Amino acid sequence: MTAAVRSDIGLIRTQNEDSAWYDEKTGLFAVADGMGGHLAGEVASAMAVDAIRHMAEEKQKASFSALSDAFDKANAAILDHAEQHAECRGMGTTLSVLWVLQEKALIAHMGDSRIYRLRDGKLEQVTRDHSLVQELVQAGIITKEEARVHPRRNIITRALGTEWDNQPDLILEDCRPGDCWLLCSDGLTGMVTDDAIADVLNRQAPEEAADTLVRLALEAGGQDNITLIICREEDETWNRD
Ligand code: CA
Repeated sequence: MTAAVRSDIGLIRTQNEDSAWYDEKTGLFAVADGMGGHLAGEVASAMAVDAIRHMAEEKQKASFSALSDAFDKANAAILDHAEQHAECRGMGTTLSVLWVLQEKALIAHMGDSRIYRLRDGKLEQVTRDHSLVQELVQAGIITKEEARVHPRRNIITRALGTEWDNQPDLILEDCRPGDCWLLCSDGLTGMVTDDAIADVLNRQAPEEAADTLVRLALEAGGQDNITLIICREEDETWNRD
């Protein structure tokens, strides 16, 4: 497996509130996009990603319950921290986690960061955004492309740190050699279309593709922090379980 990670502050924001972490050995990948301002968003997204790192360090067996526990711990840690630090009140974060195993992948997801899979040249969004505009798309009121540039696209309907009994979406996917996965914050998908992303992932290896996608988001205005992880299964010599 080859993987690449990038996190860019963009051209407008004064802070990068996104966090990303991955560990190729365990096949774990995580992207979080914090909100709250005055560094609080940064704190929230870092706490979310840390909960996944801790789960990996504890050598937990891959399962949805391990992922759910990690989300619960992150949620509680963020809520507790906000209660104790006035400047962090109201902070929250998205969290999208991919756990690639032999022939399958476990996904846990909350918010509007995304996980995509490129297979046989086609890009598929595996996660569904927890956002107002996604609800409008599902209701048939606006199109996906209208949602991408909608003035209220930043309104998130589910996030870590906003309430006590938050549950992530848990998604089981299959894996094949040659699959390419992309985890990203909305600073990428708000600036670059799915078609353009697919084109880059089809043409370039992870390191080069990561640079290109950040550049495309910046060229389109770079209005938000841009964070992404790309990982690709290169062959059939899988040795994880
Ligand atoms: Ca964002």
